[in-house]
Amino acid sequence: MSDLRARFEAAFMPNYGVPPVALARGEGCRVWDTGGREYLDLIAGIAVTSLGHGHPALVEAVSSQVATLAHTSNLVLHEPEVLLAERLLGLLGGDGRVFLSNSGTEANECALKLAIKYGKSNGRSYFVAAENGFHGRSMGALSLTGKAAIREPFGPFGIDVRFVPYGDADALKAAVDENCAAVFLEPTQGEAGVVPPPDGYFAAARAICDATGALFVADEIQSAIGRTGTWFAFQHENARPDVLTLAKGLGGGLPIGACVAFGPHGDLFAKGDHGSTFGGNPVSAAAALAVLTTIEKDGLLANAASVGETLADGLRAIDHRLLDGVRGRGLWRAAVLTGPHAPAVEAAARDAGFLINAVAPDALRLAPPLILTAEQARSFTAAFPAILDSAAPEPEN
Ligand SMILES: *Cc1c(COP(=O)(O)O)cnc(C)c1O
Repeated sequence: MSDLRARFEAAFMPNYGVPPVALARGEGCRVWDTGGREYLDLIAGIAVTSLGHGHPALVEAVSSQVATLAHTSNLVLHEPEVLLAERLLGLLGGDGRVFLSNSGTEANECALKLAIKYGKSNGRSYFVAAENGFHGRSMGALSLTGKAAIREPFGPFGIDVRFVPYGDADALKAAVDENCAAVFLEPTQGEAGVVPPPDGYFAAARAICDATGALFVADEIQSAIGRTGTWFAFQHENARPDVLTLAKGLGGGLPIGACVAFGPHGDLFAKGDHGSTFGGNPVSAAAALAVLTTIEKDGLLANAASVGETLADGLRAIDHRLLDGVRGRGLWRAAVLTGPHAPAVEAAARDAGFLINAVAPDALRLAPPLILTAEQARSFTAAFPAILDSAAPEPEN
């Protein structure tokens, strides 16, 4: 293991640092490291392995598709991609069109190119996004990313993006006028630390875009596909965007993203305007279909909602000087700390057999597989006080 870490460090660019764990395999919500230690996986590859590890439906869909037809490019079409697009549109109420990509960043690139086209045809020249937001790291998606520490080293960018404080509907209203091409928002900011806006914010954003004609783009790359207990987080406020981006949980671990544009916006691209060699490949499409089918068949939306409450209730019941509260919805939560202890708590949790993520200095992200059981959730909340103790021992006298 330490040997593997040394080889990782020698072979890879230093952008990730060297991760503390090397995983060898997984089954359901459990994973094992290369030394044979078992962990409960409460982060799921950053909200990705929605069915857990080695789910039979995913294994069967991917294995049979890779054996039948693994890749085609977009010079030809195939049934899995059509079924997937139809399925997504069915979940979203019909009148849209889909572009399939390989990642969240690429789904947002598609949305941005749509918004640029929309803006050019209407004399709209700027974009609005939220401070601390995250939309990806390619130059287009990065230009919309509000986290200054990751955006600023790579600027300046080719488009005019104005950042507003997240969750402040008045600030959004003041920033968006008839010259704004599009507003990009997450329904809850994931990388910022699972930070939900005040109730009504997403509906207010919808209304502001309706009033000014700006495109409303919802980045649901982290929040959708059951994560919050509904297929899409925008459903909590019934505020359907004009353009929606998806990725992470959609493929259950296989790389896939989607950009969906509704109504006339689905026709913004002309032939030749956009493309991807791997986007919509049969294997990733088959994986996504298996994820959607299993979520429906096994009632995983309801499971995410109810086990998410169990998890949150368990955390709320803990009285500890390091723990300040819990944020989020469904199986997408942050345990909020009283100070910058998250890295130490993450390490202590790992020592106790739980994989969680120090998403911010004072926040731990929990985004487990949607199949997590209430008993597994309770095993974590029962262990958490001792984990907090060992992360920051009570100062003596
Ligand atoms: C993860 C994430 C992205 C980037 O997705 P990648 O698949 O890493 O390219 C974009 N937006 C949000 C909200 C995300 O959580």
